[in-house]
Parts: sequence; structure tokens; C-alpha cells
Amino acid sequence: MCKTHMTHSDNDYKLWVNTENRKGKVILIHPFVEETRTKNRNYSTESLTLGCLIGSLRKAGYSCVAVNSEMNQWDAYETSKYVLKHDDIFFVGISCKSERSYGVAKTVASLIKAKLPNVHITIGGILATVSDKRILEDCKYFDSVSRGEGEFLITELAYKLLYGMTLNDIKSLTYRNVMGVIRNPLRQRIINLDKVPLSFRTEMHELKENGSTQLSSAYMFTSRGCFGNCSFCCVYQLLGNHMVYKRSPENVVNEIKEIVENYGVTEFYFIDDLFILPSKKGEIWVDKFCYLLDEANLKIKFHVEIRADTVQSELIKKLVNHGLFRIFIGAEAGCNSVLERYNKKCTVQQNNKALYELKQSGIPKYQVELGYIMFDAAMTYQELKENYYWLKESGLSTVQNLQNRMNVYYGTQMYHDLIHRFNLEPPKFGESWINNFYMDKGVEFVEGTIRRIRKELYKNNTGLLCDFFGVLDKYKKEIGFFGYTSQNEEKDEIIYNILYSIYKYLNKEEREIYYSIFESCFEYIENSSKRQEDFETLLAETVNSRATILREASTYFDNIIDAFSKTYVDIRKARNIYHVYADPHNYFEVILLDTLEDKFACNVNLKFGQIMVN
Ligand code: SF4
Repeated sequence: MCKTHMTHSDNDYKLWVNTENRKGKVILIHPFVEETRTKNRNYSTESLTLGCLIGSLRKAGYSCVAVNSEMNQWDAYETSKYVLKHDDIFFVGISCKSERSYGVAKTVASLIKAKLPNVHITIGGILATVSDKRILEDCKYFDSVSRGEGEFLITELAYKLLYGMTLNDIKSLTYRNVMGVIRNPLRQRIINLDKVPLSFRTEMHELKENGSTQLSSAYMFTSRGCFGNCSFCCVYQLLGNHMVYKRSPENVVNEIKEIVENYGVTEFYFIDDLFILPSKKGEIWVDKFCYLLDEANLKIKFHVEIRADTVQSELIKKLVNHGLFRIFIGAEAGCNSVLERYNKKCTVQQNNKALYELKQSGIPKYQVELGYIMFDAAMTYQELKENYYWLKESGLSTVQNLQNRMNVYYGTQMYHDLIHRFNLEPPKFGESWINNFYMDKGVEFVEGTIRRIRKELYKNNTGLLCDFFGVLDKYKKEIGFFGYTSQNEEKDEIIYNILYSIYKYLNKEEREIYYSIFESCFEYIENSSKRQEDFETLLAETVNSRATILREASTYFDNIIDAFSKTYVDIRKARNIYHVYADPHNYFEVILLDTLEDKFACNVNLKFGQIMVN
């Protein structure tokens, strides 16, 4: 965290307008990190980071281009090639959330500098904020680091570069000059978030201009900051304090309205850490938000992220009635001593209560997603078992949860703890610190086994599940999963339910593989008479047979989808679906009633791709 004294003036919130309409282009880049795609298993969509900055730059009269390499899946070379097609570039900004994107950001900067040595390149984001001086010492291609929130800072930097002014008074900028690296004082956090210009949705805008299919969803934020102080989290480092500032419900609903009207997008993903504040004020905010959605007659679907201790069934119910369909809870662990170590200020009992409240609210289980850390360096074997069984019994586990190791971000409390309490050597600057060190040998054994088998299963071309991400992606597209443009435009309910059932089935079977690895490891560790060779043989057999079934199932389901597409017209006539059961070892059964008259009932039994209509 930068120790520089924070000062405040109105200039902190000033948009530096390009008063003389000077020519010159600003390019902002969101880099693509291949590893993030396989870890998070989320198809990438618009970049809200770029959207916020472009919104400010456009409002201040600068010509700018957003390059969303993540969405386009462009590596550093493709990205720089695209950037260099543009004329008149005077300033490039690269977003860098964490160590994962730092390497790519450096390569992009070096490729641009090789062709355009006089262009100013700044880097922003969490890692950049916490390690500004180190970045400028580490990489000569960056001219400056933009710390903290960027919406006002970027217009000031653009203005001063375009008008040839000194950078020495731009707050929250760290830059290089002949004297060395200079760190300017911090600007104050943006308290009134309604003053931030609305994001410009470049990706949606371009798709609309080209007449292509629109993105299915949009990212938004309603607040910034978190009162928590979890030891692994870097929100505090980015923002510099624990205050939470919220946009007004009016401001948020206006933006939703604009997106719905301009782009026809009706699905929203609120990315803020605390959509619901645990206070009367928080409840009033939710009430007003719902009231305004009703008043504007906005029929939207949305996803929110909240802490477990802010879940209240009544509030969630209200949100569900206004379109909430998916919720992310930062549970993090199912063991109290682990939660204490993370300084989560939340207990397992509160996590359980949150799940109970969610059940009462009527939100389906499969729409609840947990933030969960399965392994950390200081974890004991007993803690790991508790953690594992809590997750399994919650019925909400995902493969991502089950194999998740703590990613230790530079400069966090956890980063310092590992160095000072456990005497660990941190990685080279800019490299991810996903720990492979475990103090407890049992934890090390389980985690090592999971990692080894995972690697074998998904190994390119040869792993039993090497195509599995592609298979899941296909279903996500078919069912219009968040961030995917649906292939099934009309979202026919029956087709949707069937595809969703298949998707859930595949996920469940994949999870079962991980359960079997965990439980085999536990049994081996606790049964001292068992030989390691026997354990390995048995484990390999179990995993192989489960993975083979899963692989075959995805092929069977492919046939079913083909069969469905051939009979699509008939199936669409039906209006009721009684039962969808996706399991390749049983019938895949759908009972349909004809739309026009209830007299005619039609059974469709699908087995491994065959359709029999009775
Ligand atoms: S509650 Fe979430 S956002 Fe807040 S400090 Fe903890 S991990 Fe970070």
C-alpha cells in the first residue's frame, strides 16, 4: 500500500475536457490470459474496466478505442497487431488485475513500444496500484502507473499528454522522469459514484453497428469497497480504505434502462462485492432499486455477489421477484479455524444460515455459486476434511471449488504472513503465487494427488477429459449461460430444460470424480496398513471408469441434441414438461402435452440418441 499522504481537492473529481478538440487517439487494452479461462471456466464478455474508462474519456472529448483481447481471445501479438493498425495514437493504457495478466501486459507494451517509441504507456489495476515503483523498475516499456480508481485520472493524464503539460501534479500517478521514479500523492476515493460518467459499452456498440448478434448480458457495479478485511483480498489495497460507497438506485436504474433501450440486453451481472449492505440503509437501497425497476417497467434478470452475513430471505425474495436469478456468496471455507485465519469475520454457522435463508427465499440451489478456498498453506488435515465435507454436504460444490488453491496476491496480509510466519520465499515479482507448499503433510498429499490427476485428465489430446471444457462451453452457449450468446434464440422452455439437465448432469458427474479422489486419499491416509501402490491402482481404476462414463455420456448427449434438432418443430408445439431426467444409463424422458388440446399426450423417450414417440 502506498504510504503517500492522501490529499483532496475538487480536481480529484474533475473531467479534463479536450477543450481544443486536439487530434490523437487513446487506446485501452484488457489483456487475455489463457490460464484464467481454464481456471474460471467462464467465457469472457465485455470489459467493464475498459467501459468505465472509455465512458469518461469520451465524455471529456477524446477519441478512444477499447481493445478487449480477453473477449476476442487475442494473445499479446494479435493484440499489438490490432493496436498498431490505428493512426495518431498518443497514449495507451493497459489494465492489469493481478500477476496473471502482468506478463501479457509487459509483452503487449514491448511490442507497441518497438513500433511507437514515443507513445506513453500507462498500466492500471490492482497489481499496478500496489507495486507501482516495482513495475516501473521492472519494465522499461511502461512510462507510468495509474493507481486506484481511474475514471478521472485517465482524463487528466490524457489531457496533460495531449497538451504537453507536466505530469508532476497528477494525483495517483507514478511515473518515470530523468530523476527516476516519482510517486505523486493519492487522490481521494470517489465518494459520489453518481458523478462517474456512465460506462461506454464498446463491445455492444460494435456488435450493434455490425448487425451481429448482441451480447447476452452486461456487467455493472452498484458500489465500490468493502468493510471486510480478509487476509487474501486486495480490495483494500486498490481503494486504500474500508469505506463502501454506493451509487444511488436512480443512477443504477437509469443505466440499466439505457442498456435495455440501446442494446436490447436484459441480463445484468452486478460485480460489486456487496450488492446488499448489512444495514437499514442497505435495505432501503434494495427497496428503492426494486421500486424503480417496477416504475420503469424493466423486466430484467440479474446476478449479484454478497457476503454470507448479509443474506436475508425477505430481501432476497424481493430481489428474486424483480429478476434476481443467480447469486454468488463469498463463503470461502466450511471450517471456523480457517475462516478465522482468513479474518473473514464470518462463521460456518453464518454460512449455514445464509444457505438456509437462500432456501427460504426460493432461489434454486443450482443458481447459488460459492466462493471457496479448498487449500491453503497453513491448513491442517482435520481442517481440510471439515472444509471438504461442508462443501460436499452443501450440495453447491463445483469442480472449481474442489480444486481451488489460495492464490496469494502481492502485498496482501496473506502474502506477508507466508513470508514472515512461514518463512516462505515469494516468487519472482510478477509471477503468480499459487502455493504448492503445505505445512501439513496430509494436506500436501491430497492437494498433490488432486493436481496430478487433474493434469492427466485434461491433458491436451490425450487426457480422458481433454475435450471437456469444449463440451461444457457448447451447453453453456445452447442454454444462454451468463456471458454466452444463446444459440437457442427463442429459449424454448422444453429445449432449455433438457439442455440444462444435460449440463447439470455433466457437472455432477465431473464433481463425482473429485469426490472419489478426496475420499480415497482420506481413506489411505487414515488406514496405515494400506500400501501406496494399492492406493494408486485403485484410484486410477476409479477415476478412469468415472471419466470414461462422463466422456461417453457427452457423446450420447450429442446424439440427443441432433435428434432434437430434427424434431424441433414437433417438440415446440408442446406446452407442458413434466419430467426431464438426464442420465445416459436411464431413459432421458420427456412427457409432453399438445398445445391445442389436452386430449393428446405424447411420450418421448430418448435413449442414447434414439427418439421413440408413443
Ligand atoms: S468480504 Fe469479500 S470483498 Fe470484502 S474483504 Fe473479504 S473477500 Fe474482500
